[in-house]
Amino acid sequence: MSQRTKVKQILADEKVQYDVTVKGWIRSFRNNQFIALNDGSTNNNLQIVIDPATDPALQKRFTAGAAISVRGEVIASQGKGQRVEVKAREVEILGDSDPEKYPLQLKNKPSLEYLREIAHLRFRTNTFGAVFRVRHSLAFAVHQFFNERGFVYLHTPVITASDAEGAGEMFRVTTLPLNNLPRDVDGEIDFKEDFFGRATNLTVSGQLEGELGAMAFGDIYTFGPTFRAENSNTARHLAEFWMIEPEMAFYDLEDNMNLAEAFIKYVINYVLQHNREDLEFLAQRLVEEEKQKPQQERSEMSLLEKLEFVVNNEFMRLTYTEAIDILKNSKPNKSKKFQYLIEDWGADLQSEHERYLVEKHFKKPVILTDYPAAIKAFYMKQNEDGKTVRAMDILFPGIGEIVGGSQREENYDKLVTRMEQMHLPVEELSWYLDTRRFGACPHAGFGLGFERLVLFVTGMGNIRDVIPFPRTPKSAEF
Ligand code: ATP
Ligand code: MG
Repeated sequence: MSQRTKVKQILADEKVQYDVTVKGWIRSFRNNQFIALNDGSTNNNLQIVIDPATDPALQKRFTAGAAISVRGEVIASQGKGQRVEVKAREVEILGDSDPEKYPLQLKNKPSLEYLREIAHLRFRTNTFGAVFRVRHSLAFAVHQFFNERGFVYLHTPVITASDAEGAGEMFRVTTLPLNNLPRDVDGEIDFKEDFFGRATNLTVSGQLEGELGAMAFGDIYTFGPTFRAENSNTARHLAEFWMIEPEMAFYDLEDNMNLAEAFIKYVINYVLQHNREDLEFLAQRLVEEEKQKPQQERSEMSLLEKLEFVVNNEFMRLTYTEAIDILKNSKPNKSKKFQYLIEDWGADLQSEHERYLVEKHFKKPVILTDYPAAIKAFYMKQNEDGKTVRAMDILFPGIGEIVGGSQREENYDKLVTRMEQMHLPVEELSWYLDTRRFGACPHAGFGLGFERLVLFVTGMGNIRDVIPFPRTPKSAEF
């Protein structure tokens, strides 16, 4: 088997006059001479020039979508549009593609919605090629960031028994026969008969387990699939998404904010350095898309300017209480443009409020802190005022909440009291509460929804278009 060279490398190299084997899929074949070959390493195609004397029967099989292997010489291109091309000596068909039925041929410019239905094609388009190479780079940068800082990557379980976190609706995991459920004496479903001997669900967050890791390793992070049976069908929610959850011993809220901000800047900067070509393609795509919108709805900055802006500017930090004052006195609130009007302190912020703060008022990413305890999870550290907790949410333009985090309540009695107030099963979470009984210390952490980050970085409009196989209500085909 001969070694194949990737198209990206051939196009990047200064060299000419050397032999290569390239393998990929045909994007087009024109003038009975030029094959545009794509192998997924870049959106740019490699031009293959075939010998006009090539068997016509073979040429007929050079159709869009077909997989081929080419041996030939890299030469300086005679034509415009590319620096180098490959003069083919031998072309082998690895897999034919029926030109009549190849959907990318049938439709000139397939819509994103249409492509969501054709799993095998989606990845072969320029848009999704760019999106998923950027997604890969972001994931790589996540690990690099934490590794450089000595964090331990902790794999928390996908199947969990605790449903106490209250982060969202859960998916049940069971092997019980659904048409003949075992019942206990009270007629309730008897989960003792189930696979794990108890009711279990898919995880909504790895945080509680992550905290156990932080209490031993100091700094840990998780990066894994997370499940929420959200029936909301928005452009920002998936039923299956990936979450990054660092948890740090000896961190307070400010340390937590500093880490989160540095982290986001680092990974965005990484793709600015390493995925220039794909980002430029996506920026151009966005310009085209925005041409359909009225002038006042178009963004003032290009995609690359937006990313550079985030990397180079400090996030705005303020408390929930300060934000409520701004929102109360804002134009859309006074003129009743908000769907949910802000009247009293204590209101939960909707994404329209978050986006107003970020996009209209501050025009930069915002970190809101010290939310009312009543609208936040039980484990957040209680402030002296008795009303608020040491929470922090990071809000992004076009997205709303991208990070949710807090300093954790390390005091056992305060934590248990809060759990009792919220009617949470203290007994069931004793394994978690043990961290507060044996060497508790100040600690903090946050969760970043990976797809929301990819959404921001790629400038795509719908979260379904930044995950390879989206899982949403009524949709799990592939
Ligand atoms: P939202 O209010 O947008 O539903 P949340 O408050 O439920 O978010 P958290 O429980 O704080 O979110 O989860 C942490 C992060 O996970 C969020 O900041 C967001 O980036 C991401 N996230 C939450 N739910 C989803 C989802 N259904 N799909 C994709 N990402 C999500
Ligand atoms: Mg939610």
